[in-house]
Amino acid sequence: MALPTQIDPRKLALQGNLLEGTVKLTDLPRLATSVNLICGPLQASIQFGLDESRAKIAQGEARVQVETVCQRCLDPVEVQLQAKFAVQVIWSEDHLNRVAANYEPWLVVDKLANLNELLEDEILLALPLVNYHPVGECTGDTFIEGVESTGDEVVSDSPFNVLLQLKK
Ligand SMILES: [Zn+2]
Repeated sequence: MALPTQIDPRKLALQGNLLEGTVKLTDLPRLATSVNLICGPLQASIQFGLDESRAKIAQGEARVQVETVCQRCLDPVEVQLQAKFAVQVIWSEDHLNRVAANYEPWLVVDKLANLNELLEDEILLALPLVNYHPVGECTGDTFIEGVESTGDEVVSDSPFNVLLQLKK
């Protein structure tokens, strides 16, 4: 089920609502420009509520599979991005000092907030600056092993052998 884009976070917090669902790829423009490809919809669940001091908060999780570039072999690599977050809704930057240490401020100056933007912000924070294939699955690894080892692998990869194969 698709998550609503425009939400009233204060009302949701007072009602203690749980939102669960997906965000379409086309609603994640900043993520789209940061990776090669977004492999599927972003999935998220967000629990709204009040904390001990009756501050309006939201705690949630977002995850999405993306394809980016392995910085070792420069081939595409799929990465699962996962973000856990806890935010406190505030009306203005003057209220930043009211945000408890275990929450990030979520500045919502109007009645409505854009949920997609919040989820996209959180998932962008979870995107590593550099990405690699897991060890053993990267062609960059094979290259390094081939150079270092003196076994059959090097012989079969040698330019001489490649030439022989081309002649056949
Ligand atoms: Zn790689």
